[in-house]
Amino acid sequence: MVSARRLISRIVYGSRYDRVSWGQRVYVRPGERLAREAQWRWRLRRAPVIPLADYAARTPLGAIEEFVSCLMCGQSRQQPLFEPANGDGWSYRVVRCPSCGFLYRNPNVRPEHLGDLYATGYSGFLTGTYAANRQRRYRLTMDAFAPVFSDGRDRRLLDFGCGAGLFLELAEQRGFEAYGVDLSPDSVEQANARLTRARAYFGAPEDVPEIAEGGFDVITLWSVLAHLPRPLSDFSRFRQLLAPGGVLLVLTVNARSLLLKAYGPKWSGFTKNHLMFYSPETLRTLLGRTGFAGVSYAPHYGDAVEAGTDRLPEPLRRRLRRTVEATDGGNMMRALAFADEEAIARWGGDRRIHRLRTRCDARPVPAAD
Ligand SMILES: [Zn+2]
Repeated sequence: MVSARRLISRIVYGSRYDRVSWGQRVYVRPGERLAREAQWRWRLRRAPVIPLADYAARTPLGAIEEFVSCLMCGQSRQQPLFEPANGDGWSYRVVRCPSCGFLYRNPNVRPEHLGDLYATGYSGFLTGTYAANRQRRYRLTMDAFAPVFSDGRDRRLLDFGCGAGLFLELAEQRGFEAYGVDLSPDSVEQANARLTRARAYFGAPEDVPEIAEGGFDVITLWSVLAHLPRPLSDFSRFRQLLAPGGVLLVLTVNARSLLLKAYGPKWSGFTKNHLMFYSPETLRTLLGRTGFAGVSYAPHYGDAVEAGTDRLPEPLRRRLRRTVEATDGGNMMRALAFADEEAIARWGGDRRIHRLRTRCDARPVPAAD
């Protein structure tokens, strides 16, 4: 059966874009970007904004869940947008903050139960073809922020949420004194089997004396940010763990993505254990509130395009790059946050740096009961 989407696509564009993947079409078909943005504005106009109490009264709450207000700005009113779900039996609700635009899962997971999500079998996701693709993604992102990752000698690195150690393996190859922490015990075991000098630990940074002492030149969060239920306290700790001149790398799904606007609840960023969905704007809020001095972004064109393994004709590839740069920055967000002015001077290069007004008086907003 031909879906409505395919039919519309055929009527509007003919067969010209048949060989372009769905994830790339949004960026290359003329007029599509404007249509998707109009569609998004329409969605936001139609979705009601309601007080948290009313939202909580009509929304089911799971055993390990709690209702929360916007962690970025404290706004308690809710704009329910999506209910992503898939055939494995998971589903959740995503709301938008009507004040700052932050997208988050509500109800969210109680932080003390976060480990439940990763207790057993999580490492299965982290091997095989997935592993090869992951390591390619790490290399492409390290290249995008060169020379930060070029030479790790005499530099300490912490990979927060290190999984089975795929990135730690690359970090130790580049000479870093590398450490990792993770909440999945079987992943940590796999990581330590893979690594020679680097070490992975189960638990939080403060549980491990060599990590708790801080002095890190680089901290990395590869596809981890969306999993954190208490990002403000985590990022405050990362800021303390960084040495003067230190940087924090974040790769996460981009809530400003045109693909989210196009696919709504079926967007690839809505995966099972994701809790919060950041745009470049809301990530700046998080970094500013936790004491970082600046941030820079590297647009993401898709791993295949960046690795040169895509099959797009050159004019379409150029168009894709232009659209990504002019609109959302890509479906994944890649950010390099600078701890202080020294970090900006050392690693900023000729990148565009967004300076952050750090609000040292800001405190994490408590969750609503
Ligand atoms: Zn907000």
